[in-house]
Amino acid sequence: MRDRSEVWFLFPLSALAMLCLCCAPTAARGETSTPVHVFSTLFTAQDVRGHLSTEQGIDAAIDWCKKTSVTKVYIEVFRDGYQADRAALLHAKERFLAAGFAVSGCVTTTKVGKSSTGWKGTISCYTDPATQEKLQAIFEYAAGLFDEIMIDDFWFTDCACPDCDAARRAKTVTVGSQKYPVAGDTWEDYRCELMVRVSRDRVLGAAKRTNPKVRLIIKYPQWYDNFHERGYEVIRETADFDIIWVGTETRDYQDKRWGGTVQYEAYFIMRWLGGIGGPKCGGGWFDWLGTTERTYVEQARQTILAGARESTLFCYGGLQRDTGPKDVEALRANIPELIAVAKEVQRRPIIGIAAYKPANSHPEGESRIFDFVGMLGLPLAPCHEFPADAPAAFFSVHALKDAGLAAKLSAFIAAGKPVLITDGLAQRLSGQVDLARPNVQVLSVKGKPKSLLDLPEGDLTALRAPLLRALGASFVAPNQVALYLFRDGSYVIENFTDVPAAVELNGKRLTVPARGWLHQWN
Ligand SMILES: [Zn+2]
Repeated sequence: MRDRSEVWFLFPLSALAMLCLCCAPTAARGETSTPVHVFSTLFTAQDVRGHLSTEQGIDAAIDWCKKTSVTKVYIEVFRDGYQADRAALLHAKERFLAAGFAVSGCVTTTKVGKSSTGWKGTISCYTDPATQEKLQAIFEYAAGLFDEIMIDDFWFTDCACPDCDAARRAKTVTVGSQKYPVAGDTWEDYRCELMVRVSRDRVLGAAKRTNPKVRLIIKYPQWYDNFHERGYEVIRETADFDIIWVGTETRDYQDKRWGGTVQYEAYFIMRWLGGIGGPKCGGGWFDWLGTTERTYVEQARQTILAGARESTLFCYGGLQRDTGPKDVEALRANIPELIAVAKEVQRRPIIGIAAYKPANSHPEGESRIFDFVGMLGLPLAPCHEFPADAPAAFFSVHALKDAGLAAKLSAFIAAGKPVLITDGLAQRLSGQVDLARPNVQVLSVKGKPKSLLDLPEGDLTALRAPLLRALGASFVAPNQVALYLFRDGSYVIENFTDVPAAVELNGKRLTVPARGWLHQWN
């Protein structure tokens, strides 16, 4: 590929990050001391009470961290209405610092003041002035203890109480004595404005007035298609916060309670938010809930393949029970390979089929379609702006958020570049965009993205061929075998099925082990 589309290829987040990190050279070999990839864990406020309030508990935690290659810890100040004891937090912080760990704080905004009418007893009503005051006090307390504070992914609201409803209809957000206009009168409009304004004043403002050095990390949940409905506004919040974090906790697709999310989602969301956050994108976060050892390690692989600089293992207490110990045992065995892959991923940009999800876009009947398309062995290059310069692209109903879509897509198609478009979007663009062109393929989703997992290999081979040709590649493989391509010809193939997969990449026959991966670096 030596055409102008090269400028569009995505560079690894870590390469961007290295430009702005202060790296102390080590004298011996002249290398930097910046680790290739950091593993971290989090002690919830309840873990602080249960595990970090005795010397023996702290000793055990330090030992576990060292055995797990964890070099950074987040010690949480508040969760579920409970605020951890100041003396216990400070002592744990000192012990970890003395043992050579990086130490940061965390706040989880659950059971803060007035309950939401939505997720009752967990999520709060931030229209309520007393709840805003309580929130501010929590962040002042946390900023008095730590110079970096993660905010777990409950920083949203689904409240529709009479006070919220009146403010929504009045199109006005009130924070303290300040009033801010809201662009529209939908719940989405109100909640996004509310969370942006409350973040600025009661979280960022409050924390930085207390401790001017403090950096706040907003951790986005894994449910990216619904962010805006509950007030996660990825453009303005990413601009406002110092660092962003990405939920890559896909868990086990078959799990009765936590299932339904395919593994590729972790890769998609990490790359998509990475494109929005650039060097602000700090890392990924996954947990043990609803996992097996295999899916736990798959979460780690997808996080690293997506260019994360750090993997946060949530959380210490949870990882001591249920499937946690077995998950951690499997992870420990894989850490040398994961770090080796992280090092390679950071060195080279990916190439792929542009997958366009504008910020705050609506999934309609194609919820999380990108995750399922990635499971088809189509290497995606997620993006939040129209990929005019991409060599090939995939479009779903999400793209309708772009008011200029019809003209931009018409130009893209007219350029002769291969396009894959969902049946749902094709229907919506009928009469506006000429889709009867040889370079356009329509993907039959019928409002059921998960049905894509049933597509037979023969259909997939035909589907992939023109799209991959534009990337200078060819791939024959069963469903649920994902492909990751890099500009220098390096590749990774990951098999999410329970049987070995016979594949053919660029004419070369390979076998990918069941629930395993192959990686080749040039
Ligand atoms: Zn409310």
